[in-house]
Amino acid sequence: MNVLPDPHLSLVRPVTPRTPQGCEGCLRLGATWLHLRLCLTCGHVGCCDSSPMRHTRGHAATVGHPIVQSFEPGEDWRWCYVHEAMA
Ligand SMILES: [Zn+2]
Ligand SMILES: [Zn+2]
Ligand SMILES: [Zn+2]
Repeated sequence: MNVLPDPHLSLVRPVTPRTPQGCEGCLRLGATWLHLRLCLTCGHVGCCDSSPMRHTRGHAATVGHPIVQSFEPGEDWRWCYVHEAMA
């Protein structure tokens, strides 16, 4: 187990979901998603890695916001896309 806190947690900000109704990229494309993830740096809402478009992974890579939180009801776990681990 990694006992040190993930350094990327310094990127976490108080955010408001930009598109609380669904994945921003999928809504634009008319695509469908499976689960939603919330970027904890800017509030981007994207689809998960099990969704066809994987918009959260794309957002993390292109914008450099690796820390996301599950945007599913009752889930509050965080994930780092750089470390590929729970944060
Ligand atoms: Zn990290
Ligand atoms: Zn999407
Ligand atoms: Zn972001």
